[in-house]
Amino acid sequence: MRSIQMVDTKTQYLHIKTEVDAAIQEVLDSAAYINGKWVKEFAAELGTYMGGVHTIPCANGTDALQIAMMALGLEPGDEVITPSFTYIATTEVVALLRLRPVFVEVDPRTFCMDPEALRKAITPRTKAIVPVHLYGHAAPMDAILQIAREHGLYVIEDNAQAIGCDYTSSDGNVYKTGTLGTIGTTSFYPSKNLGAFGDGGAIFTRDAELAHQLNMIANHGQQKRYYHERVGCNSRLDSIQAAILRIKLRHLDAYNKSRQQVADYYNRAFAGNPHIQTPVVAPYSSHVFHQYTLIINDANRDDLAKYLSENQIPSMIYYPVPGHRQPMFAGNSDNLPDMPITDWLTERVISLPVHTEMEEEQLEWITRHVNNFLS
Ligand SMILES: *Cc1c(COP(=O)(O)O)cnc(C)c1O
Repeated sequence: MRSIQMVDTKTQYLHIKTEVDAAIQEVLDSAAYINGKWVKEFAAELGTYMGGVHTIPCANGTDALQIAMMALGLEPGDEVITPSFTYIATTEVVALLRLRPVFVEVDPRTFCMDPEALRKAITPRTKAIVPVHLYGHAAPMDAILQIAREHGLYVIEDNAQAIGCDYTSSDGNVYKTGTLGTIGTTSFYPSKNLGAFGDGGAIFTRDAELAHQLNMIANHGQQKRYYHERVGCNSRLDSIQAAILRIKLRHLDAYNKSRQQVADYYNRAFAGNPHIQTPVVAPYSSHVFHQYTLIINDANRDDLAKYLSENQIPSMIYYPVPGHRQPMFAGNSDNLPDMPITDWLTERVISLPVHTEMEEEQLEWITRHVNNFLS
């Protein structure tokens, strides 16, 4: 059996090596390392894939969130509601822009923002909501968008973990996550479902004027070179990454499908185990399984991780410290917001290896050991 890894970008690369190497060589031959034609081509193709939305490439998923918040003209002190149970990038940029992150609970079944908690967190200072499509499952966008409409709030979808996920709206139409809110963002960090061979990110919107502003902000606030209309930043996707991503985009649906097959295998193997709660897929969402995350109900999750590790099975805790407890936000305060669901999940989640190159033998080994420990 090949050694088991959380992600296996190397083997994935070997399957498309000829195409990728040729694309990289083409960029090298052109020497157009920045702003080469591949960047525009990739942005256009990704925009089409996402259902025909404006697509602004940028340097990474964290910048994408920052640029999105900059484009909305938020003022220092404005409140931005985000889940505590997410990767730090979502909330870090809120604080970086001198906005106030307001943490809310997630639904423990889907790990995504709880609309009732969102409703309760709204104040006169609230300006934006940042739902996260965590682990590759969509947040309940109908409810979130409804609340946003009622209160006149912006919605920025953090779609870094869910590129390719389908959301079935209450209007019966199917949309890609990241295209439902005011702005959507994503990341092409190598281990993401659409991963570059370095850093990258993108921003989505249906609003042409916002797209124009987002483009300017990502490019030093300029439209015309050396004429800077507003304060921006320098956030570019480089040509080599764009050329690679163009190729990988053509495989994205197949990649997501193979992740779903891994999840199906796990689900079947754990179905009868009373100690394990397998991922729930809500009727409105597909699931692209950026992570396959279990909740361990009544056993010691850390002991399980240790046992798996002793048997050459990697696992990860996403994330060991929730946002509201990070020193970055909490300092030494004893006066933390009360987030029992987030704290409960933080102590019980464990993510198993899921990627496009997993073999049945590996899955059999992993599930046998998990079930063995939790029997
Ligand atoms: C990966 C990730 C980001 C940040 O993306 P980078 O490209 O690493 O900056 C933001 N939000 C979530 C939920 C992520 O998983």
